[in-house]
Amino acid sequence: MNDKEITFAADRMLGRLAKWLRMLGCDVTCGRHLSGHGLIRAARTEGRLILTRDRSLRRKQPPPLLFIESNDYVEQLRQVMGACDLRPGAGLFTRCLVCNSRLEPREKDFVEKLVPPHVLATQERFSWCGRCQKLYWPATHQHKMLDALGKIAPP
Ligand SMILES: [Zn+2]
Repeated sequence: MNDKEITFAADRMLGRLAKWLRMLGCDVTCGRHLSGHGLIRAARTEGRLILTRDRSLRRKQPPPLLFIESNDYVEQLRQVMGACDLRPGAGLFTRCLVCNSRLEPREKDFVEKLVPPHVLATQERFSWCGRCQKLYWPATHQHKMLDALGKIAPP
């Protein structure tokens, strides 16, 4: 990931899409406050591409935006990945799905007291979100997400 990487401001109807884009490593701001003028302001201030389902937004003279066609998050993800030429790559699982912060790699001795013993025994790689105080590791749900992603963007 370099500094010219595209960043997004997703409207509050697109929370699930935002999580998936974060899984890819994309910088996506999203939240309850992000709709209408709030969304436009956030996108303009931070130079983000707007992702929205709100047709009326165009009348508010927004910065560049991508209107999301589908209600289905898989289709939404497919659309954004196609439009922005995103691929699953080195950025995968480098960002907190909840708060959008970058995750930091953590050694086993750091996580010892934070995870159940079977996790400690079976996992080698851990990532830490300092903001949420949340630990991530490549567990089953990640594999499921990757499977789904493989169907959207075959390697
Ligand atoms: Zn976080």
